[in-house]
Amino acid sequence: MVEMNRPGMTPFEILADLGIHDPEDLDIEAIAYYCGATIVYKSLFGCEARIMGVGDEAIITVNARSALERRRFSAGHELGHWMRDRGTAAFQCSEKMFDDEWSQENPEQRANRFASDLLMPPKIFRPLAKNLPITFATVQQLAAVFKMSLSATAIRLVEYGSYPAMLVCNGPEARMWYVPSSNVKGRLWPVDRPGQWTHASGILSGRSRANGPHDVRADEWIKNCRADQYWIKEDSIPWSGGTALTLIWWDDERQLIDLDNFEEETGSWRSDRRRDWD
Ligand SMILES: [Zn+2]
Repeated sequence: MVEMNRPGMTPFEILADLGIHDPEDLDIEAIAYYCGATIVYKSLFGCEARIMGVGDEAIITVNARSALERRRFSAGHELGHWMRDRGTAAFQCSEKMFDDEWSQENPEQRANRFASDLLMPPKIFRPLAKNLPITFATVQQLAAVFKMSLSATAIRLVEYGSYPAMLVCNGPEARMWYVPSSNVKGRLWPVDRPGQWTHASGILSGRSRANGPHDVRADEWIKNCRADQYWIKEDSIPWSGGTALTLIWWDDERQLIDLDNFEEETGSWRSDRRRDWD
């Protein structure tokens, strides 16, 4: 018999044990049950979800008034606490934690990662996202397949889509966070505030709403030198709390190819990296 409910099990191990290969089999209640946790739905005030564990069993309470996507993600997030942070205090988690905790390394970020890895596993997500444009239309399409929120799905598309890309969240006053794809990470940096020709700046100033993807000069979004010589695709939408969520997509990869060549010639990437490690 398989040993159930081992703390520290990764989403990958849990899904492998359960033999899950299709998005429609990503049943959060069944998965939680396998991990020793029961999900119940109640009207909650002041938080989206909470978990209480005793011994090897836990009760995860999820806000019954929230949308299906939010409920699934909340449950996955709490299950992450259960598998990773067991033995520490009980958790109560708010919507803000699900939306904002993507860049800081802490228990909330780890629980968000756990939920994403469990409910949009790379093995299943990557083939479905293959060669799809990095736009919110694609995000919507995949969010419907996985029954997940736009933001969580957008992060996955950047991480496991087929192209160099970045997801950037800008608040009314400052940039909140950004997630780069692995081939962009540590090499291209977003500007502190989107340039005047971006749709995001229109959304943030209240001048416009979402207009779909468009071509914009790379220096409107990217602060690397010579960014003004390239074009990228921007797709921005208004998002929670007066923020704008933006997908940046290098459908023309010339900026990255030139960067490769430049780094090779000068060895700058390697020496920069060395400086970071010092
Ligand atoms: Zn949490």
